Amino acid sequence: MPSPRYFFNHFMPFTGYPYTGAPTACNLCGSTRSVTVAETDRRLKTLRSIACEQCGLIRTDPMPTPAELADYYATAYRADYQLAFAGGPPRNHLNRSAREAAFRADLLAPKLKAGARVLDFGSGSGEFLAAVRAKGCEAIGVEPGRDYAAYARTHHGVEVLDDADDARFPAGHFDVITTHHVMEHLRDPADVMARLSRWLKPDGVLYAAVPNMAATGKPPHERFHFAHVHGFVRETFDLTARRAGLVPHPDYWREDTTVVYAKTDAPVGRLAVPGLAERLAVDLKPMPAGAYLASGAWIWPMLRRNAKAVRDTFVAR
Ligand SMILES: [Zn+2]
Repeated sequence: MPSPRYFFNHFMPFTGYPYTGAPTACNLCGSTRSVTVAETDRRLKTLRSIACEQCGLIRTDPMPTPAELADYYATAYRADYQLAFAGGPPRNHLNRSAREAAFRADLLAPKLKAGARVLDFGSGSGEFLAAVRAKGCEAIGVEPGRDYAAYARTHHGVEVLDDADDARFPAGHFDVITTHHVMEHLRDPADVMARLSRWLKPDGVLYAAVPNMAATGKPPHERFHFAHVHGFVRETFDLTARRAGLVPHPDYWREDTTVVYAKTDAPVGRLAVPGLAERLAVDLKPMPAGAYLASGAWIWPMLRRNAKAVRDTFVAR
């Protein structure tokens, strides 16, 4: 069971997370110039997020090291994301995952013919793999979360790899690749997007989805989370794809940062979105702390979010 110190480190508002990290250059364009867009996360803990001044890609600063991220996923992620695993993924997770898998399989139906090779990068509990296998596709997943990968293998009988480096698949191998809410967790999302693009057949499609940091309807700080070390908006997601030789496929529905991309031979232009960083700094500007605290708007979201994590953390099963 996690210690009270663990609880303090991960849930106490207005304190930082237990990590040191290191500054990094932008993974998309390589620039080191940036604009601060947030100082707290959805738990009201101290967490700085910056937007690259050249291209607008948002990242955590300082960036957690690979070891710190691994440690976070090993100890804190489960309680943070309320996916406690005694006896398998919680029912509400499986329901949501099944709905999302059905939606994705429906969207990509024109490409999911019998015999098509499909990769789900970040395959979670395996619902999408099961859905496409039912259509006669050859499906394989990559999922570093051991518990989820084990669940997918056991309950859906699907093939899931723990990880996959560049050499794991030949270039031009897959008809369809999907990656659903994975890129925001990676230290090197632009490099991973390039790898996925390389594995894709010339006429293949890549479905990619991440949270939209420019979404309206909730307080800006609610969009920031320690596990999300990169933040995208429509422009930066498309630019990440563009760098990897991909453009939005004109025949498919898209919504902001949920997109189906196709390959292109057109040369990549300058990796820049002039003015985007400054715009994000304004759009994501938090309410003044005093006004926000006095409004009480933080109480219910925080209680709701933390109640289950507290229960999972402290109640014996
Ligand atoms: Zn950049």
